[in-house]
Amino acid sequence: MADLTIMGAGIFGLALAYSCAQRGARVRVIEKRAPGAGSSGGLVGALAPHVPENWNTKKAFQFEALRMAGGFWAEVAAVSGRDPGYARLGRVQPLASDKLDLAHSRAAQARDLWQGFAEWRVLPVTEAPGLPLDAPSGWVVHDTLSARLQPRKAGAALVGALQHLGASVETGDTAPDGVVVWATGYEGLQDLSRDLGADLGAGVKGQSVALALSCPDAPQIFADGLHIVPHTDGTVAIGSTSERAFDDPSGTDAACDALVAQARRICPALCDASEVSRWAGVRPRAKSRAPLMGAWPGRAGHFVFNGGFKIGFAMAPALAAIMADLVLDGRDAIPEGFRLTTP
Ligand SMILES: Cc1cc2nc3c(=O)[nH]c(=O)nc-3n(C[C@H](O)[C@H](O)[C@H](O)COP(=O)(O)OP(=O)(O)OC[C@H]3O[C@@H](n4cnc5c(N)ncnc54)[C@H](O)[C@@H]3O)c2cc1C
Repeated sequence: MADLTIMGAGIFGLALAYSCAQRGARVRVIEKRAPGAGSSGGLVGALAPHVPENWNTKKAFQFEALRMAGGFWAEVAAVSGRDPGYARLGRVQPLASDKLDLAHSRAAQARDLWQGFAEWRVLPVTEAPGLPLDAPSGWVVHDTLSARLQPRKAGAALVGALQHLGASVETGDTAPDGVVVWATGYEGLQDLSRDLGADLGAGVKGQSVALALSCPDAPQIFADGLHIVPHTDGTVAIGSTSERAFDDPSGTDAACDALVAQARRICPALCDASEVSRWAGVRPRAKSRAPLMGAWPGRAGHFVFNGGFKIGFAMAPALAAIMADLVLDGRDAIPEGFRLTTP
């Protein structure tokens, strides 16, 4: 008999299961396809901060989430014996000429807001670490807060850690009983919207590509809305598209060619890198664009843990700790703007 059943084995469901199992709860995860079959089974894995300005609850929470991520993934690696591909190697962003003053002002704000944990530095492009880049202004921002992990490896490490802790991860259409947390991604947002008769969110499809280039210690790059993320396995991930209308949730198309062409313009070292794989998934985007968590209105004993949208990997471990407080101890510490309420 489990204390808690978690529906969905994406990063949200698995991180919550891990938090609860670490606290001694008997946890059962039920996944209708396979662990990582949803948007958590992708290629990119950038854990990148919001800009250090106009601080609010969401940005402050994300900062704390990034700060605790290193410890979380080191522990998961130790418990499971599997490498999640996590490293805090920073991020380089080429600057347009009209963005230089803004970048310096953000550097000053980061000194205060990031509390000495990490820096937002403005550097000449010739001094930028990692892969050579073109920067229109001759300058880049290098932040030391950004990290990356490899989504599939991170999911496998969490499953391994859960098995080690005695939690069960099952696949199939089994109906849950007892206390239930629905961490079922964009389909869960659709179910919730249907049940409550209101639009609480939907899916936003994303496509991405992995290229073969071994530079595992290079910082990630963010330029013109594109993430270029080197991983430990000799690949560099490129992402992503953002598509609200789609017929095929997992299909890839010419949009991937455009991603690769754009990445090669930004980073010429990728011109000779061959394509390894393409992948598409559907992000769970709550109407608020923020995480969505709390009791399922009108369903006693049922909870919702959703809304990771574009930064689910960055947020999941910190959110999971708060969700575990709620579900196991009845302690509601949900950050402002993240709570599911009756529409
Ligand atoms: C192209 C792309 C790139 C991205 N890049 C990044 C990035 O760089 N950094 C970052 O932080 N985030 C990124 N994201 C977002 C991130 O992937 C998501 O925020 C995160 O995966 C959401 O996790 P989840 O567990 O809520 O959902 P999912 O991973 O979708 O998991 C939900 C699971 O529930 C299962 N399920 C559904 N219905 C049921 C049911 N009734 N019963 C049982 N199981 C069910 C599904 O099969 C699925 O496995 C990206 C997303 C995409 C698509």
